[in-house]
Parts: sequence; C-alpha cells; structure tokens
Amino acid sequence: MGLQIHFVIDPQGWCCMGMIIFVWLYNTLFIPQIILFPHYEEGHTSAAAILCYYLVSLFCIVSLLRASIADPGKLPERPKIPLTERECWELCNKCNMMRPKRSHHCSRCGHCVRRMDHHCPWINNCVGEDNHWLFLQLCFYTQLLSSYTLILDFCHYYYFLPLKKVNWDLFVFRHELALLRISTFMGIIMLGGISGLFYTQLMGIFTVSISLFDFSDSLSVPRKPWQQTFSEVFGTRWKILWFIPFRQRQPLRIPYHFANHV
Ligand SMILES: [Zn+2]
Ligand SMILES: [Zn+2]
Repeated sequence: MGLQIHFVIDPQGWCCMGMIIFVWLYNTLFIPQIILFPHYEEGHTSAAAILCYYLVSLFCIVSLLRASIADPGKLPERPKIPLTERECWELCNKCNMMRPKRSHHCSRCGHCVRRMDHHCPWINNCVGEDNHWLFLQLCFYTQLLSSYTLILDFCHYYYFLPLKKVNWDLFVFRHELALLRISTFMGIIMLGGISGLFYTQLMGIFTVSISLFDFSDSLSVPRKPWQQTFSEVFGTRWKILWFIPFRQRQPLRIPYHFANHV
C-alpha cells in the first residue's frame, strides 16, 4: 500500500492545526532546554526522563500528522451487490455516489467518509474508519505529553534543587518564569480539553454507540466485547500495537456472524 496523502483545503482547519503544532513545538523546544537538560547535568534527573519526553513528543506529532493526512474512509469501488446486501448500500444525494451504510457526507471535506465519527478542525480532517485509531492515539499522547510537561513544570519549582550552573544570560533562562507560565497554561488547557474528548471517544467505543459502530438498524445484534471493538478500530488484536503510530492499519477480517448479523 503506497503513501496516500489526503489534504483538506480549509483555512480554519489550518489555523486550528497550526495552534496544536505551535503548542507541540513550544514544549518540545523549551521544556528540555529549561528543565530537563540543566537538571540532568546537575544530577537531579536521569537520561531516561529526557528519552521518555522526546519519545512521547515524537509519538504525539506522528499521530497528529498521520491522522491529518490520512484518507479518513475512502468509499470502496461499488461492488456487484448481491441481493442480500443491497440494503447495506445507499445513495448520497450530495456526491451522487453509492456508499455503504454508516457512511456520512462531510460538507467540509466535500465527500462521503466511511464510518465517519466527526470532522475535527484540530487535525483538519474527518475522523473516519481509516484514521480513527490515529485520532485516539493523538488524544492519548497529547494527554501524556501535557501531563508530563505539567509535572516537570511543578518539579522544577517545588521539587528539584535550584540550578547553579546555568548561564542566566541565555534567552530561555532570562525569560524562564514567563516561558514556564505559558507552558503551564497551555498544558492545563490541552489536558482539560483533550481528556474530555478522549473520555467521550472511549465511552462511545465501550458502549458501541458512536456512529462508527451504529447498529441501530439491527436490534437483535449481541453487544460485542470491548476488545473486539477496539481491535476493529485499530485493525489488530495485538494490544501493544494499539499504541504504535508507525504502522499501516489493515482492516480486521470480521467473522461472518458479525458481518451479517446472524
Ligand atoms: Zn456524499
Ligand atoms: Zn470532513
């Protein structure tokens, strides 16, 4: 499968995404310089703390960029529909194309998206079947990075010993207080906002009530175990892979009895 880039032309989306990238850049540039490296040099913290920070930061930006440029749910080629499955397809009045049920038309993107969840301006893309897993990873790593940053901000002032060897003429140390206050403010906003969103997403998957897996068309369907639902979202049953943004998602082969509601 080659790399396919999906790019939504929406200036409002670019601004929102630009803000997220600014927050990420700000923390990734300043926090190690002001807190991690100086405290490591003075023996207050370990190299593992620096490595973890950069790792979380890397996972965060990779999931953001991939969720943003991934095609959220391209409509499949219209198959020769067998009679029994004809009711699973419907016509979109806006793009005049046949689409599988549970697809929705996004007016921002201008096309239908398979199993669309919502259009997210923060990634300037829809969240659909093919990038929902990346969106969940983005929420997870953003929370992790914000929490880590807030803990480091706190430790820098209240827990670590004061720094003795730093060069106070450097920009980052001359404006240390202001830079860390901005970082704390952004950390609290991000953590609060993303935690609420992440919680809603998880609850949606647990209760299988979001549009991604809306089974309202069949009341007799037994509720799936949450592991099965997550495996379908992430495209793998290997739970460790649910946390890795550097891979290609392949749709899981759904057993016949699930696919056909028998
Ligand atoms: Zn459409
Ligand atoms: Zn959209």
